[in-house]
Amino acid sequence: MIPFLDLKHVNKPHQSAIQTATERVLTSGWYILGREVENFERQFADYCQTKHCIGVASGLDALTLVLKAWNFRADSEIIIASNAYIASVLSITHAGLTPVLVEPDPYTYLLDPTKIEQAITERTKAILPVHLYGRCCDMRTIHTLAQRYKLKILEDAAQAHGAVYGENRAGNLGDAAGWSFYPSKNLGALGDAGAITTNDDTLANQLRAWRNYGSSQKCVTDYQGYNSRLDELQAAILLAKLPLLNEENSHRRALARRYLFGLQNPDVIVPSADQIDQDVWHLFVIRHPRRDNLRAYLFDKGIGTDVHYPIPPHHQKAYASLAHLSLPISEQMHREVLSLPLNPSLTDGEVTYIIDTINEFSKEP
Ligand SMILES: *Cc1c(COP(=O)(O)O)cnc(C)c1O
Repeated sequence: MIPFLDLKHVNKPHQSAIQTATERVLTSGWYILGREVENFERQFADYCQTKHCIGVASGLDALTLVLKAWNFRADSEIIIASNAYIASVLSITHAGLTPVLVEPDPYTYLLDPTKIEQAITERTKAILPVHLYGRCCDMRTIHTLAQRYKLKILEDAAQAHGAVYGENRAGNLGDAAGWSFYPSKNLGALGDAGAITTNDDTLANQLRAWRNYGSSQKCVTDYQGYNSRLDELQAAILLAKLPLLNEENSHRRALARRYLFGLQNPDVIVPSADQIDQDVWHLFVIRHPRRDNLRAYLFDKGIGTDVHYPIPPHHQKAYASLAHLSLPISEQMHREVLSLPLNPSLTDGEVTYIIDTINEFSKEP
């Protein structure tokens, strides 16, 4: 059986570094907001080439806190792709704002750059590009529009650790970026963890206080803040794993390349191949008109797959207020997308078997 994702295997090469890191935290006697978080923030900011990194408790918190800090009027609109992950949409409504869903490009799965401008109204305050599956959105277009209409840009980089666009890395492509280090992400902790990267000093100072009750120094409260801290243990684990991120991303790219050029089944649509070396391939997502049949067939052949995501945000019970929207591209994608195994512990031989098995599918009854 080839599992879709086995985190035990993914973390195996990091095991001794993680053990050293956790031992260091245990014996330090200091578990919240200390040296590990400071070191990780500095190293991750350097990695993203941003001035600041602020560790927080999760990716959802990272996005929500930035949107709240921007303090937009309550009826403000935020533009986001209609196939975004639900957490990206939740951050908008948690900040008391209105998501405006724009259809994705069906080959990149990202916010369609030709459809953004028509969604802008006088209430639009920001664009929230989600670098879905590990590929950066069309930031040139997004920057042009942001400048023309005076909009903020909040990247959702939770699937794009190390992804590149032009001269810059994800996390340094807008006014601020939200990160998640959920265990399955390209850079994953052993629990919940998140961060914000930004070059904005004022925002960074405010968020640093906000994550810790609104205190900039012990027992001095400047804001009515939150408790959303990255803990020392997770920070130490992330510090242990960060040095291998580029190597793991390269391995993901090599596997993605095999899929892109090896999958020859005429019914299978592969993602666009124009960004192989910039994309970090958090997920390798194909489309097939009989997705559920293909998925069951692969399961019978010992291949685990997953669906990211089965239900579009506007069809979720939590968003009944968006249920009237007609978003045919996104709806079709949610019926057709299938995520194939792709992670640093997957072998070349396993990929060959997966490709051959999918290429045989049309011949099945
Ligand atoms: C994982 C993820 C999030 C949420 O991160 P959590 O740490 O689980 O809160 C947000 N957006 C995207 C695109 C994600 O993949």
